[in-house]
Parts: sequence; structure tokens; C-alpha cells
Amino acid sequence: MSASRLRPMTGEFIRVEDEAAFQRQRFPETVRHARLVLGVAFGAGVLLLLNDLRIIGEPIFPVVLALRLSLLAYTVASFRWAARMVDFPRLERLIVAWQWLTGSIIALIVYLKSNISLPISLVLPVIFYLAVPVSFRWRVLNGFVGSLLLLLAYATDPDDPLSLLSMGIWVLVLNAVLILLVLRDNRMARLSWCAIEAERAALASTARSHEMVEKTFLAAPIPMVVADIESGRILRMNEAGQRYFQQGPEDAPTTLGDLHLEPDVQKQMMENLRRTGEISNFEARIGQGDAPARTALIGGSMLEVNGRPAVVAGLMDITDRLMAEDKVRQAALHDALTGLSNRAAFQLSLEAACAAFNSVCLLLVDLDSLKDVNDTYGHDAGDALLVETARRLGQQVEERVGGRGFVARLGGDEFVVLLAGVRLPEAIDMAETLIAGLRAPIWYGGRSLIARASVGVAERMGETQTSGELMKNADLALYAAKSQGRNRAVVYAPQMRWAMQERVALHSALTEAASSRAIVPFYQPKVSLVTGRVVGFEALMRWRRGPQAFLAPAAFASAFQDPELAVLVGDAMIQRVAADVRQLLDRGVVLGRIALNLSPAQFTHTDVGRHLLERFDEARVGAEHFDVEVTETVFLGRRADHVRPILDEICGAGMHIALDDFGTGYAALSHLKQLPIDTLKIDQSFVLDVEADRFDAAIVCSVIELGRNLGLQVVAEGVETIGQARFLAARGCEVAQGFLYAHPMSAEHMADFLAAESDAVIAERLRALDPA
Ligand code: C2E
Ligand code: CA
Ligand code: CA
Repeated sequence: MSASRLRPMTGEFIRVEDEAAFQRQRFPETVRHARLVLGVAFGAGVLLLLNDLRIIGEPIFPVVLALRLSLLAYTVASFRWAARMVDFPRLERLIVAWQWLTGSIIALIVYLKSNISLPISLVLPVIFYLAVPVSFRWRVLNGFVGSLLLLLAYATDPDDPLSLLSMGIWVLVLNAVLILLVLRDNRMARLSWCAIEAERAALASTARSHEMVEKTFLAAPIPMVVADIESGRILRMNEAGQRYFQQGPEDAPTTLGDLHLEPDVQKQMMENLRRTGEISNFEARIGQGDAPARTALIGGSMLEVNGRPAVVAGLMDITDRLMAEDKVRQAALHDALTGLSNRAAFQLSLEAACAAFNSVCLLLVDLDSLKDVNDTYGHDAGDALLVETARRLGQQVEERVGGRGFVARLGGDEFVVLLAGVRLPEAIDMAETLIAGLRAPIWYGGRSLIARASVGVAERMGETQTSGELMKNADLALYAAKSQGRNRAVVYAPQMRWAMQERVALHSALTEAASSRAIVPFYQPKVSLVTGRVVGFEALMRWRRGPQAFLAPAAFASAFQDPELAVLVGDAMIQRVAADVRQLLDRGVVLGRIALNLSPAQFTHTDVGRHLLERFDEARVGAEHFDVEVTETVFLGRRADHVRPILDEICGAGMHIALDDFGTGYAALSHLKQLPIDTLKIDQSFVLDVEADRFDAAIVCSVIELGRNLGLQVVAEGVETIGQARFLAARGCEVAQGFLYAHPMSAEHMADFLAAESDAVIAERLRALDPA
């Protein structure tokens, strides 16, 4: 590699820095060598001085002696100075100066006594070329100049001109040979230096990488072990390994056996290692004394330690990760409150059951009472109800069908029981058992909570029925159970699906009707039994299906159950009534008060009162022209508190509030006291048989009495016969409404109806009431 870095003519490095580095590194050696050369030169000088004693007495002796002594002195001085030199260029300058002095003095001595100088003229250049540690150019320059100087000194008094010529030739040859030797020596020295440097660098790099591996091994945060494969002896273990495996202060593991790997796992691992030379992502369980075993991933590979096969392996403990994953899985498939499986888990189980069993039944359980418990006793009580329901369902299913049953909470108040390999009769039994089991009261905070439930039961029909269809059927059955009065189990029947489809179709048609002005009001007059005059009208909704075809609400009663639809058609109705009233007032018709019916669904919106007033504003009619009729169901359960501010607002705007269908619902008499109610409307079912049925008569009389005592107006609905009217008038009922006076009519007919109400008509009405 480095031959190309050397100058071909000198054997020195081409790059100055390389040469300087080379000299710098060998500098102590060079100083030692220079001093050795100076020491030998001193010895040789002393010997030559002794040799010069032969010419004692000759006139040149004192001169020679003086020259010799001064050279010796300078050599000694150079010897001492050399020790103090700090770098090669300075040392070189010292040596070169010494060479020049030595060369000059020797040449002078030869000149003075040439007979003794022949050997010197040969030895000195040899020394200058080969022994003196200076750079190539100084070696050649000093060697050549030195030998030339000696030759010249010798030539001043040659014994024989011929021998002078041959000496000249000798000196030239000698110089050439010496230059070659220096060149070779330079090259060899530098090449071997380069080789040594390269080796040193290689060794240093190996040492560094070894150190890095070692440090990594020791500092790695995962446990690592090096072990002899055949004996199983542990050769090295890092700190993390010691912490992980060493369970007590005394029992540091010494063999692979001490690491408490499961025996067949260890065997399998070693087999893999022998076969492929490595192990990767090997999952193993590791015993931890009395603590529960841990799980780890192991990776490793073969290597050779002291000529024997060994394994280096690292381990990653994944116990915590697995536990966390398990928790996430658990949370993803379970309901946090009840601990039951959730909808996602149920879906999986349902799919699996459908694939594995011929007969699959679903019981969809809906807690009827959750809303009321939540509203009455708070959400903690609701939670307690859910938890206990879940427990009872789980227990009963477990007792009756064991592993063939699966209970899940679908959300809110809805639970599901999946029965795999169970036929319909058994499923119906199960449903009855569940309902009965839930009826037992649940004690919470000193109160008993009632967990009434409706259950929809469906059996999978044939293998082609999908889990989604089965679920849908159970849903329809549940819907039927709820609309049949709740707290019961109903089995799915195909007509439920048709009914549902009809409902869906009806709802979309009604939605369309609300926006296309097909919802129109009819008005039925209310007649005073005291004055015989019309005191107002009740607005009744009609759905126009053709020029003269109007549907009464009985045909679309389900619309009032749907909160969105009820509000939609209710709003269309309010707008039309307000517009009609405005128009009639503009024509100067005296109408009395117009009553609007509001459904419970409309009361789920707290702003229903404000909304009414806005509509009246839009139509530019005052609220005092209107009454509102509400049924007692509006006050059921939680709604009472919520309804009160709405009624206050309506009442405050000048409207009167009538309690519709009084006596058929669940109103507590306390509502009459607490709420701003002005009127009681006796339900037509009591009026129908009032003359013949003494119970109906008693009820009608008590309502009239109640109204009188509380200062409320009493209106009787469904008055069809004059006999009923007389009965009511005689008992003090103030107002009657019914076919006796008029059927509900369109707004156009109202004006005519009122115009026809002459004094004679009124007098006739009053006369008819008089039995005499
Ligand atoms: P309701 O409020 O009790 O209205 C009285 C019902 O009795 C009306 O039925 C009326 O036509 C009928 N009726 C009146 N006089 C007689 C009679 O002498 N004999 C008999 N057999 N029936 C009589 P309609 O119009 O079919 O309304 C039925 C129910 O639909 C109403 O009962 C009311 O609950 C509801 N409804 C009607 N219009 C609306 C409305 O705009 N909004 C809301 N939310 N409900 C409405
Ligand atoms: Ca009514
Ligand atoms: Ca009524």
C-alpha cells in the first residue's frame, strides 16, 4: 500500500506530513542512534589521536593535535546537546553541523599528512551515508562533499598520480553504492514503519470495537447471557440479566438450568440453535420463585468462545405488555358497568352460534323501568338496577341452560340472551322465567326498585337466515311487547314485520304530508249548557288524502308516539290553526277560544311553549285566543317536573290549560293542585253510557263535583244525545262538546256555522235541555 507513497529517488515519503510523522515517531530512537554515532566517532577520534603519537616531534604534530582535540571536544559537546533536542529538524541541524566540522577537520589533517589518510577517506563517507541519522539530501550532500573534500586533500600530495585516479574512481563508485544502500534502507524503514502503523491501527480498531461490544453487552437494558452450549455453563451475564434472574443474594445462576425456563421450551430452543445457528422471537415462560411465572421473547445466535460452541442470547420480558393487551381485549368485549359481554362480543358469539347450531333463539330484554328509576332516584340507583338485572339474568340463564346460554348488555337498558341449540318453546319458558325473576324487588338505599322488563323472543328460521335478520326479528317482537303494554314476553310473528313496514311507510307519508300542507285542522264547537251559546272550538287534526278524503288521527295514532314525527305534524297543525284563526278574525267572526291538543312527545322539547308563542306571533294572533289540551300521560314519571315550567309559560301567555280524557289516565289529584290547570274534560267513554250505567254516572258526577269544588271549568266530550246533555246540565256541567251539536268541520264551514247560530237556535238549545 505505501510503496506508492514513497519518492522513487529518495525512498522518503512524498507527503511532507507523512515524513514528519515518521520522523516524529522514531525521534527517541533517532536521538539514541545519533548519540551512539557521536560516541563511536569520539572513540575512533581518540584511537586516531593515539595513532598520531607516532609523529611526535614532527613540526605538524602540534597542529594535528590541536585539530584532533578540538574535534573531540566538539563531538563530546554534540553528544550532550543531542540529548536535549526536542524534534527531528533540530537534531538534524546539530548532526549536519557536526558533519561539516568533522569533514573539514579530517580533510585538513589529511591535507597536512596525507600518508595516513587513505582509510579515512573511505570510512568517513560510509559513516556519513549510512550511520548518521539525517534526511536523504543531507546524507548524499554531506557524504559526497565529504568524500570529495578528502579526495582533494589527498590529491595535494599524491604518492602516485595513477593511484589518485584510481582513488577518484573508487570514491565515485563508493558514493554510488552508498546512495543505493541509503535509498534501500530508507524504503525498508518506511515500509516496515507503515506496516507496523497499519497493524497498530487495526489492533486499536479491534480493541475499540471489542470495547464497544463489551460496553453494549453490559449496559443493555435487556437481560443478556453468554453460555457454553454443551455444558450449559453461563460464561457471561450482563447487569440486567443478573437483576432479572438472580432471585436472592446468594443464588446467582451458573448454568442455563438455573434460569428456570420451561424444560421443553429450553430443549426446543437449543434444537433451533443447532439447526439454524440462531433463535428469534422465541416465546418462553420463566419461573420466578414463588411469584407468578413471566413470559419473555428470546433471541440469540451461536458464537465460539475459546474454541467451544456458545450461545449469546437476549431476552425481552413481555408479561406486562401481554397483560395490558389482555385488559384492552377485555375492555373491548365487556361492558364496564355490569361486567357482561358487550355488543361486539355478542355479535361474535351470535355469528359463531349461527354457524355451529341448527336452532338459535334470541331473547331481547328491555328494562321498562330504568328511565323512571333514573329520574326518580338518580343514576346510582339506575346503575344498581342494571347491575342486579345483569346478575339475575346471568344466574338464571346459567341455571337453566348452562353453557348454551350467553348474556350480553347491548347498551342503555337493553340486554340480550343468546340460546344456542335451544328450540322456541324452551326459549319462551326461559323468557317467562327471566321476567318473573326480575319482578322480585331490588333493595337499594332503603328503597325497593322494580325491574320490570319487556322481552322479544325470536327463533332463527332456517340456516339461510342471517344473524342480522334474527336480531331484527327479536327487535320487532320486543317492539310488540312494549306496545302491548310492556312487562311481558312476545314471540316474533311475520305480520310484525309487515306492520313495521306499514308503520315506516306511514311515517314517511306523514312526513311528506307535514311539509305539503296536507295536515289540516277541523274544528268542533264547545257549547255552553248554561247560555246555549258556542264558547269555543277544539282543533282536531286531519290528514287530507284527496279533495274530500280526510283521515282522522286514529288512522295514524302511531305518529304521536314518535317524538320527531309528533313534533313535525304538531307544528304543521299549530301553523294552520293560527293562520285560520287570523283569517276568521279578519273577517270579523267571533270564535271564542280555540283549543289545541299537544301530545306528550311534544313535551319532550322544553321550548314547546316558546315555540307556540312564536307561531302565534308569525300569524299575528294573540295567545289569549287559544287553549291547550293535554292528557294525563304528560305527567307520568319524570315528566311532571319538566312539564311544569312549560305549562307555567303557556298559562302566563294567557292560554287556558285543559286536562283531556280526565279519569282514564294516571293523574294524581295532587297535579290539579300543583299545576296551572283551568279545565277538566270528562272522557267520552264515561259520557257514552252515563244515563244507563250507574258507575259512569257516578264518575261523571264526581268529576263535575270535583271541578266545582276546585274552581275548574268542566267540559263533557262525546255528547251525542239530548239525554246525555240534559243529564250533564242537570248535574252542573258547564260545557258540552259532541256530535249532538256538531261534527268537527273545516275552517270554511265554521263561519257559516256561527252565522247560523241565531237567537232562535240558542233558545231551542236551552229549551231542549229543560226536561219539563
Ligand atoms: P280527543 O282530544 O279526545 O278529541 C275528541 C275526539 O272525539 C275527536 O276525535 C272527535 O272527533 C271525537 N268526537 C267528538 N264528538 C264526538 C261524539 O259525540 N261521539 C264520538 N264517538 N266521538 C266524538 P278525533 O278527531 O278522531 O281525534 C282523536 C284523538 O286524536 C283526539 O282525542 C286527540 O287525542 C288526538 N288528536 C286530534 N287532533 C290532535 C292534534 O292536533 N294534536 C294531538 N296531539 N292530538 C290530536
Ligand atoms: Ca282533546
Ligand atoms: Ca278527549
